[in-house]
Amino acid sequence: MIVSKFGGTSVGSASNIEKVIEIVRHKEENTAVVVSALGGVTNLLVKASELALQNDASYLAVVEEIENRHREALELLVKGDAKIECDTYLSHKMGQLRDVLGGVSLLNDLSDKSAARILSTGEDLSSFLIYHAMKERGLDVCLGDSRELIKTNSAYRNALVNYTQTYDNIERYFLANSAAVVLLPGFISSDDSGDTTTLGRGGSDFTAAIVANATSAKLLEIWTDVSGMFTANPSLVKQAKPIEKISYQEAMELSHFGAKVLYPPTVQPVLDKNI
Ligand code: ASP
Ligand code: MG
Repeated sequence: MIVSKFGGTSVGSASNIEKVIEIVRHKEENTAVVVSALGGVTNLLVKASELALQNDASYLAVVEEIENRHREALELLVKGDAKIECDTYLSHKMGQLRDVLGGVSLLNDLSDKSAARILSTGEDLSSFLIYHAMKERGLDVCLGDSRELIKTNSAYRNALVNYTQTYDNIERYFLANSAAVVLLPGFISSDDSGDTTTLGRGGSDFTAAIVANATSAKLLEIWTDVSGMFTANPSLVKQAKPIEKISYQEAMELSHFGAKVLYPPTVQPVLDKNI
């Protein structure tokens, strides 16, 4: 099996999502696809929650922007029978988001638990939309629920993974599932009470690493807008060169010291298993 993770830029627009679908279609092995929220959406969700906390009603305009981004993508990606289902899902999710943000505004309180609920909306929406776009284009795809697979403690925003339970859930899920493509939202997980938790900003890489390790996948690919790990940040240093080969240890060090290309805990599951 292969695990492919597509970050926010890769799924940031309908045309990019089309490209992702073509990449996945041409995989020669069963593939678990982990997706982030549409590019920029998590930041918008953070902004909306901060505005709501300050009792600033302009959080509603941010919610509208999020809704419009998804409606536009939906318009271009899903045209058949599933369109109504997607429309309904989107309206339902946006209603829930407005309700939770309304609560934050009313109570003047943004707990970590509420924040995790709010931030998870991005991956819920992107995975639902991409799932239907894949299905409409004839892929043998099923949509998994990362909350049911990845179990954590109740540190809602930066939750710690319970690996024993999580690996067991993932192994069982993939054994019972024969679809060529299993699509999973990145970043989101849940605690023992079933409440939504998140793996920290940038956490979709981590989701993909957990799935890859649990399934002993042959390959974990992290697709992003930068083509690999570089000797320095390529957006700041023009002479930065791509690194052809890097050990897990070095990759982890680079990410710990600020390389944005990889979320630091991503390498940990592999090190835990192999060393
Ligand atoms: N959407 C989340 C974030 O922006 C997780 C991720 O993209 O990896 O932090
Ligand atoms: Mg990232």
